Amino acid sequence: MMSNSSVDAANKAGIKTSCENHEKCMRMIQAILDGEATEEEKNHFRDNMDVCMPCINEYHLVKCIKESLCNRLERKTCPENLINTIKLKLDLL
Ligand SMILES: [Zn+2]
Repeated sequence: MMSNSSVDAANKAGIKTSCENHEKCMRMIQAILDGEATEEEKNHFRDNMDVCMPCINEYHLVKCIKESLCNRLERKTCPENLINTIKLKLDLL
């Protein structure tokens, strides 16, 4: 959940707070995290992740989910409340 002040800060920094290509971004993020993205896709992602706030958030979220799934024995790296936040977010997708 974003506060209004973080949206204002994002706007001032020229960062988008909504994404018109979210579905496309998500496919790219999945591909990158799966290690299946092409160089072109990776470059595109790097160019865009600085300006696309929902997709940056999504990237970190998916990355955290994957890491917590890969490291079931190291759950401490993904605190309980973060896991709950992730579950909530997934329900909203
Ligand atoms: Zn995006």
